[in-house]
Amino acid sequence: MNSPSPEVELAEPQMLGFLEFLGIDVEYVRAEGNTLFFRDGSGQEIPVLDYAGGYGALILGHNHPEIVAAAREFLDSGRPVLAQASRQTAASEVAAALNRILRREFADSEPYYAVFSNSGAESVEVALKHAEFDRVLKVRALEAEVAVHIAEAREAVAAKRATVAAGALRSVTLEADARGTDTPGTDARSLDVFEDLVAVVLRRNAEQAARPPVFLTLEGGFHGKLAGSVQLTHNAAFRLPFAGMAAQARFLPFDQPQAVAKLTEEERATVLDVVVEDGEVRLVERPFPVFAAFVLEVVQGEGGIHLVSPEMARAVRRASDSVGCPVVVDEIQSGMGRTGAFFASSLIGLRADYYTLAKGLGGGIAKAAVTLVRESRYRKDFELVHSSTFAKDTFSNTLALKTLELLEAGDGEAYRLAGKWGERLLSLFESLRAEFPDVVKDVRGRGLMLGLEFHDQSGSAATGIRDAAAAGIFGYALSGYLFRVHRVRTFPTASAVDTLRFEPSVLLTDAEVDRLEAALRELCAVLREQNEQALFGV
Ligand code: PMP
Repeated sequence: MNSPSPEVELAEPQMLGFLEFLGIDVEYVRAEGNTLFFRDGSGQEIPVLDYAGGYGALILGHNHPEIVAAAREFLDSGRPVLAQASRQTAASEVAAALNRILRREFADSEPYYAVFSNSGAESVEVALKHAEFDRVLKVRALEAEVAVHIAEAREAVAAKRATVAAGALRSVTLEADARGTDTPGTDARSLDVFEDLVAVVLRRNAEQAARPPVFLTLEGGFHGKLAGSVQLTHNAAFRLPFAGMAAQARFLPFDQPQAVAKLTEEERATVLDVVVEDGEVRLVERPFPVFAAFVLEVVQGEGGIHLVSPEMARAVRRASDSVGCPVVVDEIQSGMGRTGAFFASSLIGLRADYYTLAKGLGGGIAKAAVTLVRESRYRKDFELVHSSTFAKDTFSNTLALKTLELLEAGDGEAYRLAGKWGERLLSLFESLRAEFPDVVKDVRGRGLMLGLEFHDQSGSAATGIRDAAAAGIFGYALSGYLFRVHRVRTFPTASAVDTLRFEPSVLLTDAEVDRLEAALRELCAVLREQNEQALFGV
């Protein structure tokens, strides 16, 4: 076997090639606050203003001194990082702290249990698995009830206290016709006829139980890229190659509340049950839990920074309540204070049954994630069927606890800062749109989760710009320009690549906003002039 030469890039070489093409393939050697540093050819440190913010994971910036100190203190203390199956106080304290925040923001005292994991997608997988576990247990309970009813009815028929009702008999005959099997006897008092009826009920119910679960979610949503979570990520390029791997989702239009109830009505399913009434065995239909969960972001991040309306949130809550499935709010990007409240869903009055959190939870240093499940929905046995080696580790939770403490300090100063800087950036973007309506298409977001959408350039007269737009990398070309010319770092959102995202930390400064303003104003001028030499640096 040839051993690869050290020059061959083996760690996702395609991606590195793309970064080289954009001119952003520098290696950062240091970071603090909203700044990353790389060294130029002469060894000098060059600062880069970071508005990508670790894709929203750096709510308190890079290497926050108090989080770094907590990490050092932890490592110096000699406490174990991995001591699975032991008491883990840090995890318990994180769960308690999150519950205090939930109580405050939703004015509700029902506790939420915490299942820890290592990444955003994993916390979504936990939510999907828990919801499906809950649904399967409900299906089993329903089957057990039907079995009891069948036994009771059998006894009644055997003791000649009941006969099979005419309607039920018709179902048996219809089924026999459909299957081309012998039509059973028609003596409603006979046990054989009753057993034929039971066979119909069990077959129908088994077919229903074998159906895969239905997860409801919104068009434009992003919930991760693991085998389960990617099924709920709307972007076809991310999802479709893996569509055969797991239960699939039904996507609802993002802004059509009336479509929610319509879909849940259409998809409703039932199983058959028997009842003995007035000396007759009758068939009845009972609702079957076909829906596992409704999963949504209240501020779609990777979809291009779109806010779900309160009307849509109410429609989701109502439809989910009517079919009995949990509402899972994915706060992986919008949570941790970024939108001006800890939970963005609290700002539109949507109280979820499950929440997922990740990104900022580890304070920008650790990898931490958690799925919170409301007590009335929590299946304690889930703890016996789900686990992960690194989940709930003491190091991550120590840093998560410190991060929550910093966010909650000063009576929520961090959330106020997110709101204040968000408004400042939003008004800057609005002024750019007013000045460059031919370049800036839209401005969206809340707090420090903002998107600046550029007009599609696929009709541009400048060949390079047109080609970049046709290849779906126009937004990345803008990132390349901002980095090369202005030393400002940001990226398009993953599923809407003409929208640049701005997710800096709450520790933003006036000078950092001014630098962004100068950079974006020049970018807009370059685009107005269709100056591709300037845009691509050629
Ligand atoms: N959900 C949302 C809303 C996200 O924004 C992301 C990441 N962009 C994820 C899930 C997946 O998180 P991770 O990349 O940590 O798996």
